[in-house]
Amino acid sequence: MIKADKLYKSFGKLDVLKDISTEIKKGEVVAIIGPSGSGKSTFLRCLNLLEMPTSGKIYIDGKDITNAGKNEIMKVRQNVGMVFQHFHLFPHMTVLGNMTYAPIKVKGLSKDQAREKARELLGRVGLADKADVYPTKLSGGQKQRVAIARSLAMEPEALLFDEPTSALDPEMVKEVLDVMKSLATTGITMAIVTHEMGFAREVADRILFLDEGRLVEDRTPDEFFTNPQSDRAKQFLQKML
Ligand code: ADP
Ligand code: MG
Repeated sequence: MIKADKLYKSFGKLDVLKDISTEIKKGEVVAIIGPSGSGKSTFLRCLNLLEMPTSGKIYIDGKDITNAGKNEIMKVRQNVGMVFQHFHLFPHMTVLGNMTYAPIKVKGLSKDQAREKARELLGRVGLADKADVYPTKLSGGQKQRVAIARSLAMEPEALLFDEPTSALDPEMVKEVLDVMKSLATTGITMAIVTHEMGFAREVADRILFLDEGRLVEDRTPDEFFTNPQSDRAKQFLQKML
């Protein structure tokens, strides 16, 4: 569904992504792991054109989107949603307001349609009773579940997660991972940057390991965790596990 072909990204003189080629198939769940600063966020952001690659190509559903114009970029971001570490909820809107804004504005849903859909999704993330509250009244875990539900309200084909549990207190990590686990069984395509190794091993179909901007390993979780090929991955896992 999403393909990167010889992807490079530099910020000025800093080469952040170097020659990354990989493919995420429809319905696949891919975990992206690696040391801090290795380019994980930049890679994820290139996949839905929040960053423009310096060279190389991104394909979505077979279509080269690398040089997409403004309208097309909007469509790509609708189709490939993003969930951030810090939730990015609109503070001045209720949960329902957060979840219906883009579906009404961008997808042209009626208010009633958007609300019905939002309520259904809130139920799915276990927050049916929070429709009318403001984000400040929610815990971190609840905020992130709302953010996930809000992304789903756009009916994306794929969701990208950038360390969705890293900003959470430990006791709230599980409720968010559980939502993502159940999402993974629905057939939606997912790419998840995470430091939760147990989760990655259990839920991902594939692990991408980045180090200093290079895709060093692209393997099944069993292969990666039991028999990493690169010294960098071995060192990384020793620290993490
Ligand atoms: P990770 O998510 O793996 O921690 P990032 O993709 O955030 O890594 O960052 C990789 C490198 O690129 C880091 O050195 C970071 O400082 C740099 N970087 C990321 N975004 C920008 C930017 N917008 N401008 C300049 N440098 C950036
Ligand atoms: Mg990052």
